[in-house]
Amino acid sequence: GTPAERIAGLLEDFPDHPAPGVVFRDLSRVYAEPGLLAGLAAQVAADFRGAFDRVLAVESRGFLLGAAVAASAGLPLTLVRKPGKLPGTVHCAAYALEYGEDRLEIRTDAVAPGDRVLCIDDVLATGGTLGAAAELAEACGAKVAALVVLVELTGLGGRASLARYPLTALCEVP
Ligand code: 5GP
Repeated sequence: GTPAERIAGLLEDFPDHPAPGVVFRDLSRVYAEPGLLAGLAAQVAADFRGAFDRVLAVESRGFLLGAAVAASAGLPLTLVRKPGKLPGTVHCAAYALEYGEDRLEIRTDAVAPGDRVLCIDDVLATGGTLGAAAELAEACGAKVAALVVLVELTGLGGRASLARYPLTALCEVP
């Protein structure tokens, strides 16, 4: 099948995780499939070849595809992390959750000014996480070449909230 069909066929739904009313789409079987992540990363690296200089990967599960794309492309990898993890001077971006807010950080010296970056995460839901990652890239003087996710949960408004950036999802599910 196509990459999208392969990913969709490996997703597992967990109703009421991590909270009542939420259906969690689990990607464990995508990562467990030998060669699949590497193949998807090679596809992303080829599709965006020449259009990006660096990968920004979002903690935690964005590290998996992000690291694989950077390795496949032979380009630098920068980690966007949860608060308090990174040493040195950081930029911080807050984003709204259903209840309250969360934050992400990047080292201020993590990106060469003018770098074109691919911001990568595992799942797009409301778009808050990737929006914060893109903001952090821009705070460092980078240009966001594209946002890339393994799975887009359509119908949660993520794509619309990120309309100012090009967005590629390897698989779309309702
Ligand atoms: P957003 O900020 O777009 O609302 O949520 C996306 C973030 O939450 C991603 O970092 C992702 O890891 C996590 N996330 C939200 N919903 C799901 C889900 O159903 N499955 C998985 N695997 N992660 C999710």
